[in-house]
Formats: sequence, structure tokens, C-alpha cells
Amino acid sequence: MNDEISKLIDLQGIDLEIDGFDQEIKNREQEILNREQGIADKEAEILRLKAQNEELAQSQRDLKAEMDDAQARIKDRQNKMMQVQTSREHQALLKEIEENKKVIKAGEEKTLQIMEQIEEIEKNSAELANLCAGEKELLVEETENVKKEVSRIIARKKSVLDQREKLTPELRTGTLKRYDMLRTKRSGAAVVPTKNGICQGCFMTIPPQQDNEIRKGEKLNFCPTCQRILYYVTEDTETADA
Ligand SMILES: [Zn+2]
Repeated sequence: MNDEISKLIDLQGIDLEIDGFDQEIKNREQEILNREQGIADKEAEILRLKAQNEELAQSQRDLKAEMDDAQARIKDRQNKMMQVQTSREHQALLKEIEENKKVIKAGEEKTLQIMEQIEEIEKNSAELANLCAGEKELLVEETENVKKEVSRIIARKKSVLDQREKLTPELRTGTLKRYDMLRTKRSGAAVVPTKNGICQGCFMTIPPQQDNEIRKGEKLNFCPTCQRILYYVTEDTETADA
């Protein structure tokens, strides 16, 4: 095989390895971001619950004021009872007292409901706060782990980058440019093998004449469809699934 082709194959291998390292780093960092987001979501939920409880506490105070007013009206009507003469007036006052007692009873029931709601919300909020605290502790640990892991990956990546630096000057500038452009346009895969006369980058058939040239491997060949650099590898399975 042409020396340039085999160097391009090596370069593609190196670059895919580097891409892999970058992806690995990204994934690990994303895990941390996800954890941070999880904590932020819980903290936002705790704030929302707190606001909800403040609203409920306000309703409770409003109810209390309503019940106090009703109580005051009852007292007032009871005092008036002693001064009224007619039974009709007496009945009217009794009716008012009954109505105000109803207001108080309804207010008491509602107050109990609100107290239960507040209690439930406080319980949920405390559970969330607990979870948050645990997750924060884990996050510190995990961030430390990821940092170490990323440094290891970067070290591995550096040694591969060194290989790359040794290799690239051995390639012609034009070839390298074309390779880089293809890497950008073809999501990282610039050099691909052929199999059964099919480009393994875009899976289109290569004309037989060109396929023969690729098998000879004497010069650079480009896929007529995706323009990737093509090479031929002897495949045991080639005829099996042809
Ligand atoms: Zn192709």
C-alpha cells in the first residue's frame, strides 16, 4: 500500500482516539452538570414550597381575622339581646348569632385543613433539603473523581497528540488540508475502508474501475459520493456477505 495512504489511516486512527478522549471528558463533565442541575431543581422546589407555605400562613391569618370579627359580632348581638323587646327582634339577633357561629365553625375546619397542608409541605420540604444535602456531599466527591479522571484522560490524549505531531509533517500539506476539511465535513471520519466495492463512509457503490485502483492502493482515491479518502483492507468476510 502507498505510504501516504497508510499514514492517513494511522492519522485517522489517532484522530478518532483523540475524539474519543474529548467525548469521554465531555461525558464526565456532563455528569457533573446533570448532578448540579438536579440539586438546583430541588433547591428551586424547596423555595416554591416555602412560598406556598407563606401563602397558606397568610390565609390562616385572614381566617383568624374573619373568625375574630364573627366572634365580636356574636358578642355584640348577645349584648343587644338584653335590650330588645319584641320576639321578632330577638329572632333576628338569634339568626345573626347562628350565622356567625357557622362562620367560625367553617373557619376552624378550614384552619385545620391548612395546618395539615402546611405540615405536609414542611415534611416534603425537609425531605428535599435532606436529599439536597446528600447530593451536595456526593457532588463534591464526584467532582474530585471527575477532575482526576479528566487529568488522566488529558495525559493519555497528550501522548496521542505527540504521535500526531510526529506523523503530520510526513504528509503533504495539500493532503493534510483535504483530510482536515473532510474531518470537519464528515463528522470526524475522513479516511474509510471499502467493503465489497462499497464506501464504508456513505455506503454508496464505487465504480468497478475505481474499486480496482483502490485495491491496488497505489494512489489516493476519493469516494465519488462523499469524497472521503478510501482504502482497501483484505476482509475474510468480504465475499461471504457480498
Ligand atoms: Zn463515500
